[in-house]
Amino acid sequence: MPLPVPAPQNRIPELITQLRSMLEDTSGIDMDDVDPATLFVELGLDSLSLTQIAIQLKQAFKVNITFRQLMEKFRSLDTLAAHLDGEMPAAPVAVAAMPAPVASGFLPPLLPSFGTMSASGVPPSLLEQVIQQQMQLMAQQIALLQGNPAPAALNPAPAAAVAAPHSQDSVPSTPSAAPSAIHDEDVAAAGLAKYDVKKAFGAIARIHTEASTELTERQRARLDTFMRRYVARTRKSKEYTQLHRSHLADPRVVNGFRPMLKEMIYQIVIGRSKGSRVWDIDGNEYVDVLNGFGMNLFGWQPPFVDAAVRKQLDEGYEIGPQHPLAGEVAKLICEMTGFDRAGLCNTGSEAVMGAVRIARTVTGRNLIALFTGSYHGIFDEVIVRATKKLRAVPAAPGIMPSTAHNVIVLDYGTPESMEIIKSRAHELAAVLVEPVQSRRPDFQPREYLQELRKVTQDAGTLLIFDEVVTGFRCHPGGIQALFDIRADLCTYGKVVGGGFPIGVIAGKREFMDALDGGGWQYGDDSIPTVGVTYFAGTFVRHPLALAAAKAVLEHLKEHGPQLQATVTENTAAMVEELNAFCREVGAPIVLKSFASVWKTFFTEDHPLQDLLFGMMRSRGIHILDNFPCFFTTAHSIADIALIKTAFKESVIELQESDFIPKHRDSRAPTLDASKPPVPGARIGKDPEGQLAWFVPNPELPGKYLRLEA
Ligand code: PMP
Repeated sequence: MPLPVPAPQNRIPELITQLRSMLEDTSGIDMDDVDPATLFVELGLDSLSLTQIAIQLKQAFKVNITFRQLMEKFRSLDTLAAHLDGEMPAAPVAVAAMPAPVASGFLPPLLPSFGTMSASGVPPSLLEQVIQQQMQLMAQQIALLQGNPAPAALNPAPAAAVAAPHSQDSVPSTPSAAPSAIHDEDVAAAGLAKYDVKKAFGAIARIHTEASTELTERQRARLDTFMRRYVARTRKSKEYTQLHRSHLADPRVVNGFRPMLKEMIYQIVIGRSKGSRVWDIDGNEYVDVLNGFGMNLFGWQPPFVDAAVRKQLDEGYEIGPQHPLAGEVAKLICEMTGFDRAGLCNTGSEAVMGAVRIARTVTGRNLIALFTGSYHGIFDEVIVRATKKLRAVPAAPGIMPSTAHNVIVLDYGTPESMEIIKSRAHELAAVLVEPVQSRRPDFQPREYLQELRKVTQDAGTLLIFDEVVTGFRCHPGGIQALFDIRADLCTYGKVVGGGFPIGVIAGKREFMDALDGGGWQYGDDSIPTVGVTYFAGTFVRHPLALAAAKAVLEHLKEHGPQLQATVTENTAAMVEELNAFCREVGAPIVLKSFASVWKTFFTEDHPLQDLLFGMMRSRGIHILDNFPCFFTTAHSIADIALIKTAFKESVIELQESDFIPKHRDSRAPTLDASKPPVPGARIGKDPEGQLAWFVPNPELPGKYLRLEA
């Protein structure tokens, strides 16, 4: 008689548990109660998270799964687990190949740790090593299941890849710190727009590869007509993009990709510019509202910058020696920002990196806090997102989980996050804030910032304002002046460069001295007394950028705060008018602004709504889908009128194409049946479903006529 074959172990539940943990660590989304049949897209897992997950699946389970398969085939925990189960060797769940999650990521697969000795002092056999490793892994997994960090001693080689427990592991889990909490609250407070944390993150290429949305016949026809019009107008930009795709790797070119829109997924290629206008290579003229992601406050090639740069071009742009303009520019920056000292570099990202480094140097602490929804540039530590358990996880593939170990990401402007900062202030080197986030311009939590100033001051934690966007744009002294709050360090860039690459760290003397050791004089025995950190770069203090910056700073000084105030007024007036229009036509769109930064938000989610931006481009407005927009001193009232017309026409076109709905105006006066405007009038619905007054049609008995307001 054949021996009974043991029933094959069902490892799918265990796989689902492991996948939950992996997905949670990668995306920051709480996976505990997620139905395994829920599609990843419904959970809000974007292409970025799925790319990371595809990489980790390969590492963890030794099964090749592409990002595309996660988008199209294995789209939920249960289908993915079933696929893994089918692909993995028919053994118990391959624990030895399953890296243990530590902190905010997964370890690479285990390597045998040949350095270990057995208790007898004899090198262990291969079998013993494997058993040892499996026991370590089980201990790690149990620890993690119990919510404890994996003990460092149990983490096997390679040591460099192993995250030792770090300070934030001790953070109590605070449900109120959940990213979703702030957003729901904000949505309620704002009453309108739903902020999507992932959408808020940076300029990452958003690529949707899922099969096209089902369209009605009308939608299809209107989409085809619009795309034909768009492509015919910008044919050369499209040809250029195709011609160079194979050698120019450019995330921006693919941003917003959807299969059904692919024929119009390319950037408009701009050949020249002047003032508020840019011209594409097909010869179309646009009013620019993107304005170099906010680096432009004076229009393209303002004469005062042009003259300074041309002069400098003739005089030379030497890299290496000190340049006469460097000191002048630093002095002007200090004058305008109220700081003691300023250091120069090439980009806002570099400035942020330097400021954080200074904060760690002067405090001797490691941890920094930053906020969900902020953007601080491209260095690894700030490309993180929050998890419910207060851990930061990388927000892009290629960023090491360990990079995020000394960062906590908190909700911006909530009492809960203030409590967390208070309780951990003594550990924090700095709190890094984008005081008014460019992706959320209407949220201006002045009192929160005031309290933050006090809390950080008391704890010896540096308050760093990232004013790369707001600096010089909202006021000559930036947010510090506008809100009357003094930070310890500020980072600047964009506007102050006058069109040239620049980054600035400015701050109080005691902190900025960490860049050069502080003050000393000739002719006595003084020496640099402050310990220095490292901050350098080949192109820092580039003479052309210095010439442009000096011209900008002098221009700003000459014109005073009225310069910014006028642009701010124009922006607010346009936003108000367009919001009134959206309400009137029942479009689920709202514009929000701060100073001369404005942004369009959709208050609902419709797959083709982003065509608003393409439609505006086709009407001569240079705008990038879902990016913040900016006004400059070069934008005339006539320019703004063109933008308003293009916006309104595009909204109407979206509605007529059934790409967005036409809601009843929520602010329309409600009709009171007891007060008919004429005797015998009755309330009914018009063909668009709107309530209106009707009177009997004298020519068609039984029919009614709608009374116009
Ligand atoms: N901080 C903020 C607030 C920003 O908006 C940006 C860029 N948009 C940066 C930092 C990074 O600046 P850069 O792109 O010049 O590196």
